[in-house]
Amino acid sequence: MSRPEVRFFNTLGRRLERFEPLAPPRVGLYTCGPTVYNHVHIGNLRTFLFEDLLCRSLRFLGYDPFQVMNLTDVDDRTIAGALAAGRSLDDFTAPFIASFHDDLRVLGVRPADVYPRATRHVTEMVAIIERLVERGFAYESDGSIWFRIAADPDYGRLSGIDLSGARQGARVASDDYEKEDAKDFVLWKGAKPGEPAWDSPWGPGRPGWHIECSAMSAKYLGETFDIHCGGVDNVFPHHENEIAQSESASGRPFVRYWLHSEHLLVDGEKMSKRLGNQYTLRDLLERGLSPRAIRYALVSVHYRQKLNFTFDGLRGSASALKRVDEMLFRLRHAAAGAREAGGGGAVLEGRAAAFLAEFGRALADDLNVSAALAALFELVRDVNVAIERGEVGEADRDTVERALHRADSVLGVLFWDGEAAAGGAAAGPTDDSIRERIEARLEARRRRDFQAADRIRDELAAEGVVLEDTPQGTRFKRRSG
Ligand SMILES: [Zn+2]
Repeated sequence: MSRPEVRFFNTLGRRLERFEPLAPPRVGLYTCGPTVYNHVHIGNLRTFLFEDLLCRSLRFLGYDPFQVMNLTDVDDRTIAGALAAGRSLDDFTAPFIASFHDDLRVLGVRPADVYPRATRHVTEMVAIIERLVERGFAYESDGSIWFRIAADPDYGRLSGIDLSGARQGARVASDDYEKEDAKDFVLWKGAKPGEPAWDSPWGPGRPGWHIECSAMSAKYLGETFDIHCGGVDNVFPHHENEIAQSESASGRPFVRYWLHSEHLLVDGEKMSKRLGNQYTLRDLLERGLSPRAIRYALVSVHYRQKLNFTFDGLRGSASALKRVDEMLFRLRHAAAGAREAGGGGAVLEGRAAAFLAEFGRALADDLNVSAALAALFELVRDVNVAIERGEVGEADRDTVERALHRADSVLGVLFWDGEAAAGGAAAGPTDDSIRERIEARLEARRRRDFQAADRIRDELAAEGVVLEDTPQGTRFKRRSG
C-alpha cells in the first residue's frame, strides 16, 4: 500500500512538518502515562484518547506504530500518598494502576504495546545518570544528583523558555515546577527516612520524575525515536528536561516529532480541586452518561484545540451518534427490501470509496478529525437521500458498512459493543490490571508482607478473579456469572 503524505504539527520548531519516520512502516512512539497516585481525571483521559486516535490513524494510513506508555509509580506525589496511607508504594499504587487500565478499556482505547513501570527500571535510570555525571552534565550536592542546565546550550529549545535571568547553580528539588523555576533540576534524590529507596553509586535514594521517561523510552524505543506525546502541561519542565537528559547522555537527537494535546476545560473553566470539576470517568458514569458519548466528545475535537467539556455537549455527541445508528438501521431495512424485490443494484460503491479517501486525507493533515467527521456525516446524509429515493440495492449495505468499519478502526465509536459499554464493574478488571496486581502481590510476599499480599488477593476475589499459586507461577481465573 502506498502511504499518503502525512503532516504533523511539531512542538519542536512550532510548525507543520512532513512526517518521515526513521524506519517506515514502523513508528516508535512514547506517550507519558499516568502518575498513579489517584484515579485519572477526564483531562488526563483526553490526552490518552488523543494518543489512541493517533495510533489508530497511523495504522489506517499504512504505518505500524509501536506504543510505549510508562506508569509513574514513584515520584513526589506517589511517595506522599503512600506515606499518608501507611502503605508500601506498590500497595498504594496497585488500585490506581488497575483503575487506569479499566478506564481505558471502558472508553475503547487500544492498549499500548508496553506499559513499563518506573520502579522496575531504576537500574536503567542510574546508568543514564552515571553517564551524565561522567560527561559533566550532572553533579552531586546535598546528597542528591542534579542536572546542570548551564552545561546544555540547547536547553529551552522545546518550550522556548528564557534563561537569561537564571542564576547558575540555583536548584529546584520538586518533580514539577513552573517556568519561573528553570533551575538545575534533580536526577536522583538522596533517601529520606521512611521513604522507599534504591541503591546507587551515590548511596540509597530514588529517581526524579523526568529521568524515568528518558530511561524507559531509550530501553524500549532506542536513543532516537519518532514521536513523543503528552499534554501541553508536559512541555515544561518535563519534556524539556527529558530532551536535556537524553541528548546530553547519548550525544544523539532524542525525538523527531513532539505532539502535545491542549487542555480540557469543564464548563469553560480550568479543572481544579477548588471548583470540584476534576471529574473521573467513574463520576461521569455514575451520572448515567454513556462511555460511547464520552469517547465521542473527547475524540471529536482537534487535539490542538482546547476542548470544552459540558453536559450539553455530551448530549450533542449522543445525538450525532444516533444519526449514524439510524442511517445504518434504515440501510439494513432498505437492503432487505431490495433483496425481496430482487433489486441487487450497487449505487453507493463510488460514494463510499470517495468518503474513505477524504477521511484519510483529513487524518493525514495533522489529525484533522473535524474534517474527517464532516466527511462521515456527508456520507450519512447521502446514504439517507439514496434510501429515500429508493435507489439503494442489496450490495450497498455491505459497501457502506465496510466503509464505516474501516473509519471506525480510527474512531472506535460507531460500532459500539455492549461489552465495553457495560463498564468496569460489570465486565471485571482487565488482564493487564490483574497481572499488575499479581506482580504487586509477589513483591509483597518477597518482602514478607503477607498482610498486603492477602489484601491484594481479597480485592481481586471481590472483583470476581480467583488466584491460584502453582509451581510455574500464579495463575488467575475469572468466576463467571
Ligand atoms: Zn514522561
